[in-house]
Amino acid sequence: MTKLAENNQMVQLVNLLEFAPVAIGVFDSDSKQTLLLNDIFRKSFGYTKTDIPDIDSWYAKSFSLHNAKEETLQSWLAQIALDNASTSIETSLRDKNDRVRQVSLSLTLFEGKQLFYVNDITDHLIIEQRLKVRSDMLEMVARSSSLQDVLTMIVQQVQRESPQSLCSVLLFDKEAQRLLLGAAPDLPAFYSQAIHGVPIGPTVGSCGAAAYHKQRVIVEDINTHPNWSAFTDLTQAAELTSCWSEPIISSDGLLLGTFAIYNAPSAKPTDKDIEQIQFASNLASIAIENHNAHQELERRANIDYLTELSNRRSFFELSNAMLKQASIEKENCALLMMDVDHFKKINDIHGHDHGDLVLQHLARNSLVNLPESAVLGRIGGEEFAILLPDTDRATTLEIAESLRESLAADGLSSHDKQTIYYTVSLGVTFSFGMHCYIDELLREADTALYKAKQTGRNRVCTFNGC
Ligand code: GH3
Ligand code: MG
Ligand code: MG
Repeated sequence: MTKLAENNQMVQLVNLLEFAPVAIGVFDSDSKQTLLLNDIFRKSFGYTKTDIPDIDSWYAKSFSLHNAKEETLQSWLAQIALDNASTSIETSLRDKNDRVRQVSLSLTLFEGKQLFYVNDITDHLIIEQRLKVRSDMLEMVARSSSLQDVLTMIVQQVQRESPQSLCSVLLFDKEAQRLLLGAAPDLPAFYSQAIHGVPIGPTVGSCGAAAYHKQRVIVEDINTHPNWSAFTDLTQAAELTSCWSEPIISSDGLLLGTFAIYNAPSAKPTDKDIEQIQFASNLASIAIENHNAHQELERRANIDYLTELSNRRSFFELSNAMLKQASIEKENCALLMMDVDHFKKINDIHGHDHGDLVLQHLARNSLVNLPESAVLGRIGGEEFAILLPDTDRATTLEIAESLRESLAADGLSSHDKQTIYYTVSLGVTFSFGMHCYIDELLREADTALYKAKQTGRNRVCTFNGC
């Protein structure tokens, strides 16, 4: 073959490699010099021949992630040199923008040259990982894992995808209009504590503002952004410079919290970063919504729908636990059973709806007139039970009398602007620091209540005397 033909063939070969649909790097085996970084290589990883003039500088820039990875790469290279056969390896490398990419790397030794084919499989792996994390999360939710565990798992997934980032989930406390820490496993503890309870507001950092506006807030440089001026001591101590925050919104459009991604250098999110934060926030929203629904179910299972007091089952559970504890500490508990007098008549005269209003009024007023430690439950239609922990006989009778009097004195308005007054009778008994169960005490209190009804109603009677 003539020199010219040989040259032509070489040009064709270089063109072929230059425009091949896979990233290719060619290095001279002896001098180690970079001979070619093709179009896809330059576009995918950002490096040119000026950045990596030889193979060692490519290794140093791209593969020095941590020792274990480097060792695997070196032993793979050594094996190829030995066998002179092309094989491939899955590894990670750093691109020129310092982003870690998952690649499938193949090497062919050919006429004193090393041809590397670098296939970027990051997106493929991310999709696979996300599918897995989604199904793991649903499984955790189905197994009723704690919300914190589920959120931590989501945060860790994002941090695995973007090892240079740290993430947090904050939960919206609607009543206080504040954000509470949900999960931030790798942010410094002092930082997490400081943001726990941050109010939401139009200019409060990234998360407070994202929650307030229910819109993503991107802060590329915390040090120069007005939203962060009050927090820069904190962020500098935690070495955080950028913070992107995505609101977490429920399926019916309500604010549930925020998902934040922090970076140490100032950083602008790419389209992929936005996709990632949206994915994480969607997953978090499923977890939080499910948790809230679960809690609401539990609340409803324990709460009487009409008065919002403990229902019979929950009152029994709470009181038995308190009675057990009191017997260990040899403390006296008092049990009061309270029944509305002639309630049937109230229903007959004012209607069932107003009967319901009386029960709600009674529940509210009783809570106001009882000590905070008292447990109050609706245990029947117009029957209520009150457990007073660590209370002596005299104090109990004072509390019972004052409750009876205040209920009798305070009526509620009916639809025809009349005031509906009602009275209650109470039966009282005591545990005397002994271990007893609530059903035993209720039987005694019921006997005392029967006495109160028999002796004229609107009065307090005790099991052992009136
Ligand atoms: P006493 O003074 O002897 O307790 O007389 P009473 O009329 O209160 O007692 P009774 O047991 O004869 O009647 C209780 C009534 O309470 C009967 C029932 O219709 C009514 N009631 C039970 N649950 C509810 C409720 O949720 N709402 C309303 N409005 N009434 C209820
Ligand atoms: Mg009654
Ligand atoms: Mg009754």
